[in-house]
Amino acid sequence: MTRIITASPVTDVPPVVEEQLEAAERTELKARIKRLMQAQDAILLAHYYTSGDLQDLAVETGGCVSDSLEMARFGHASKARTLLVAGVRFMGETAKILNPEKRVLMPDLGAECSLDLSCPASDFAEFCDQHPDRTVVVYANTSAAVKARADWMVTSSIAVPVVRHLAERGEKILWAPDRYLGDYVRRETGADMVLWQGSCVVHERFKADGIRELKREHPEAAILVHPESPAEVIELADVVGSTTQLINAVRDLPQPTFIVATDNGIFHKMREVAPGKLLLEAPTGGRGATCVSCAHCPWMAMNGLRNLLAVLETGANEVHVDPAVGTRALGSISRMLEFATTRNLALRGRSAD
Ligand code: SF4
Repeated sequence: MTRIITASPVTDVPPVVEEQLEAAERTELKARIKRLMQAQDAILLAHYYTSGDLQDLAVETGGCVSDSLEMARFGHASKARTLLVAGVRFMGETAKILNPEKRVLMPDLGAECSLDLSCPASDFAEFCDQHPDRTVVVYANTSAAVKARADWMVTSSIAVPVVRHLAERGEKILWAPDRYLGDYVRRETGADMVLWQGSCVVHERFKADGIRELKREHPEAAILVHPESPAEVIELADVVGSTTQLINAVRDLPQPTFIVATDNGIFHKMREVAPGKLLLEAPTGGRGATCVSCAHCPWMAMNGLRNLLAVLETGANEVHVDPAVGTRALGSISRMLEFATTRNLALRGRSAD
């Protein structure tokens, strides 16, 4: 009898605990980190959802603040021998896959992602085996082992052109792990897709009713939505896009006000590129209601200056990827990169989570 494979429920979501620093401690920590980074030939790759302190430090030290793929690509282009990845585990793994010769360290190896957690490699392999006629397309927010099982890895913006291309060739798709992004891609392309039922604990909490109410109070606002959000939230959007696309929208659109349905860590960069514009968090239901994350990823919040300093002092929290797994995972990533190159699709600005 065929076993029914479903996404692993992610129930053990930690509380959001942000690092709190007095100004003097912040200055001291940054100075010590900078000295050690120089001594160890390290650069800092920080995700848009991490703290403003880490994003500022990345900029001050010549690193990058970006999405997961651009972080890995920036690390690859850099001559630095050590990559400090402030983000979540799959980002450290992707950096290692693209840079196997470099040392990759993370402030906290317990920084997970609910999409990655929902999709254990062994269950996923069994799911794929049950659908041998389908091309396996996985989102960037997956483990190295899941990427290794896939035919393609895609980021949020390139997902639509890749799946459309495959559908035009008559291929049927197995998609994992985000069901909302998968559903969005299916609606955009009309492709035949079976979806893994994972979700992001941040994006699935945005509420269409709350956004409509906020829009009534701010009729001048544009609504920006990340496609990991539910369909009824995406329907309200003026712009649906990846992190970089949403930042560009705040910078480029004429509206003075934006309702933003993605992790609020992104506000740090949005304020920098569009000072003076009013940014409003899309409602999630509130702390006392069904909200787990309240528009901020609890795993991203595990990154801070204190634990970044600790890994530089001790060399702890190095990311390792089995070389055979890494080689296979690189195949699915490279397929996407080659597709982007041949189609002249800029991945910068069309990026991942
Ligand atoms: S915000 Fe969501 S998709 Fe991004 S790392 Fe956190 S849980 Fe994963």
